[in-house]
Amino acid sequence: MGIIPFNRPFVTGRELTYIAQACSNNQLSGDGPFTKKCQGWLEQVVGCRKALLTHSCTAALEMSAILADIKPGDEVIMPSYTFVSTANAFVLRGGVPVFVDIRPDTLNMDETKVEAAITARTKAIVPVHYAGVGCDMDVIMAIAERYKLIVIEDAAQGILSSYKGRPLGSIGHLGAISFHETKNVVAGEGGALLVNDPRFAERADIIWEKGTNRKQFFCGQVDKYTWVDIGSSYLPGELTAAFLWAQLEQAEGITKRRLALWDSYHNAFAQLEQQGILRRPFVPKHCIHNAHMYYLIAPNPAARTRVLSALQHAQVGAVFHYVPLHGSPAGQRFGRTAGDMTITTNLSACMFRLPFWIGLEERLAVVVDHVKAALDSA
Ligand SMILES: *Cc1c(COP(=O)(O)O)cnc(C)c1O
Repeated sequence: MGIIPFNRPFVTGRELTYIAQACSNNQLSGDGPFTKKCQGWLEQVVGCRKALLTHSCTAALEMSAILADIKPGDEVIMPSYTFVSTANAFVLRGGVPVFVDIRPDTLNMDETKVEAAITARTKAIVPVHYAGVGCDMDVIMAIAERYKLIVIEDAAQGILSSYKGRPLGSIGHLGAISFHETKNVVAGEGGALLVNDPRFAERADIIWEKGTNRKQFFCGQVDKYTWVDIGSSYLPGELTAAFLWAQLEQAEGITKRRLALWDSYHNAFAQLEQQGILRRPFVPKHCIHNAHMYYLIAPNPAARTRVLSALQHAQVGAVFHYVPLHGSPAGQRFGRTAGDMTITTNLSACMFRLPFWIGLEERLAVVVDHVKAALDSA
């Protein structure tokens, strides 16, 4: 029956054709024709004012931290249950991550805990749309408006998901998307910064291009191209953009196939949830998700350990997810918590993710049987 890996990046078949085209375009550096196609797609489909391709979501978050003008000591409110880059991007500017607990249903930052975490030093809020399921953005945006805070959506997992009809990444002042090979739409390593608030648009171009006004120069707006601000090399080359274009073209189809897989898992575990043996993911009615991952929540940490070791023994690539940042060595050094972290601590110790990739369809039943058997013996 062989090994069932946790992830296997999907390839559409058009990638090499577009890479060959990029090779004959006489431009391999960034901001060429394929970069513009990808950015145009994002601007149209996600509906952001401006999209800039980056070499990762991490890079897009770092650009956001510069745009938000994070200075040493400035506080940034975020969940502890997230990937390290959510916090690291701000710590690099001297910012202090302030971790709040998550909701038990979606594992997203608990929007009712945000206001109590605000101090005179708070500069930004970073909601993370876990598993491509939207955070309660209406509540978060209202708080941000009241306290004049910048909202940066970590929509790394959120491509083609929406909250109340609005695509994730288009709701905050800024958004960040990932095209890492573990995400739905991939470029190997890749990402995008989404700029929704026009006040950040011009500076975003400058930061993207190493702190120069190269963009304005090529648009004929200035007659010299020079160093005007801080920045870095955040743009990917055209080969990456060409690969990504093949994926974006088929993003809707990719999402449909993933949703079918997700539904199969979800139906297969419905009964176990009814019997109180495990908990399945929850998607609020006003959210459309993109089937980024399928996870389950075991009744206790010991049961999760037993399930994971049984699956490992059966060569099924199930894994746990984030080790909460507030307990990590760097999280303790650079950040602090606001309020208790009970739900983060408990649920992160009980959840596990199942193999999830296009092509898994024929073997999904095998995974389900192994999980059921492991939980029976647990
Ligand atoms: C994957 C991920 C990132 C980092 O994305 P990269 O493109 O690998 O830099 C950041 N935040 C979240 C929530 C992620 O899932």
